[in-house]
Amino acid sequence: MAYLNENYLKLQAGYLFPEIARRVREFCKKEPKAAERLIRCGIGDVTEPLPRAVIEAMKRAVEELGHRETFHGYGPEQGYEFLRSTIAQHDYRDRKIDIADDEIFVSDGSKCDCGYILDILGDQNKVAITDPVYPVYVDTNVMAGHTGPARKDGSYEGIVYLPCTAENNFVPEPPKEHVDLVYLCFPNNPTGAVATREQLASWINYARQHDALILFDAAYEAYISDPKISHSIFEIEGGHECAIELRSFSKIGGFTGVRCGFTVMPKTLLARTDFGKKLPLHPLWHRRWSTKANSVSYPVQRGAEALYSDEGRQQCRALIEHYMGNAKILREACEKIGLHFYGGTNAPYIWVQTPKGLTSWEMFDRMLREINVVVTPGSGFGAQGEGYFRISAFNSRENAEEVARRLEKL
Ligand SMILES: *Cc1c(COP(=O)(O)O)cnc(C)c1O
Repeated sequence: MAYLNENYLKLQAGYLFPEIARRVREFCKKEPKAAERLIRCGIGDVTEPLPRAVIEAMKRAVEELGHRETFHGYGPEQGYEFLRSTIAQHDYRDRKIDIADDEIFVSDGSKCDCGYILDILGDQNKVAITDPVYPVYVDTNVMAGHTGPARKDGSYEGIVYLPCTAENNFVPEPPKEHVDLVYLCFPNNPTGAVATREQLASWINYARQHDALILFDAAYEAYISDPKISHSIFEIEGGHECAIELRSFSKIGGFTGVRCGFTVMPKTLLARTDFGKKLPLHPLWHRRWSTKANSVSYPVQRGAEALYSDEGRQQCRALIEHYMGNAKILREACEKIGLHFYGGTNAPYIWVQTPKGLTSWEMFDRMLREINVVVTPGSGFGAQGEGYFRISAFNSRENAEEVARRLEKL
């Protein structure tokens, strides 16, 4: 009989979103009337339709595939040149960040890249993650065998947890100890926090001193409204020597269902062999794509390219303004009823303290029962998330306004 990957057996059973779904299902069965007025502010998925520019570009691309003269078969495994150069130009070189076209690797999304990237990194790496955290960073490392078993509180042996608390404004300082690999995400999911340039610089400093690698998840960079906040880790001096950036079209262009994102892998980025030889990671990443994948479909890449057209950019701006308008409505509602909260100004998430010492799940149940609103319990993102819940601004305006009204009845 074949052996299975036992690392999967270490994964904690009640993964956050299935557990939320279970409780919501149970509630709806018991209270079918209330179920009809249920509003979901839980999962971080967009709600608004795709930008028109994307639809038109994808339609044209599909039509091209329908004719012998313009048909496309397999494309380049790292992504089409037209998309890689558009990304490098608009997101980086236009902002005075030196990134070459072939340092952009197109993928089917950042969640996926989080798993793929471990292909080219050694199993010996000491990994640091923030707490609370986007669960994908942790679970992909568990599956790859980079951790010990889970403890009672859901944390894993072998991982260095960096507490993000109200005291540090949800931006952790580098640890005292040595780690090889650090996951950072700013603007942050779930806390909505952003890191200042100085805070990012101190992480780059740490990475230089420890020869560590930073995996910088910038999925929400388009939601930054404060001009002092960096959109890319490569805006900070030294970033090209110690960081990989993960970006996604999911939240900027409503691509959660279309699927497209990219990584930025500078050629100057080195990692070591067991014998201490320092080698660039870029050729390994290139090879990983050549061998294991055939990139994302031609119409999807044309759709992503269209996000950078004048029309596309305007439409993305409108989408983000819509969601951040919701965030404002929800923040104001929290303020009105005296809930203490963070985030919601440079990110579409509001991180709210539970009142009266309720646990995250108690608050989840209470909001489900009393106002029929689904939120995400903070403890599902890590031990430090206990005592918080996350409200997502990804919703229709109508729903955001209704949630604001219902919050006042809480
Ligand atoms: C939504 C999100 C992503 C994007 O994931 P995709 O796979 O590109 O849809 C990445 N990181 C975080 C933290 C997210 O919340």
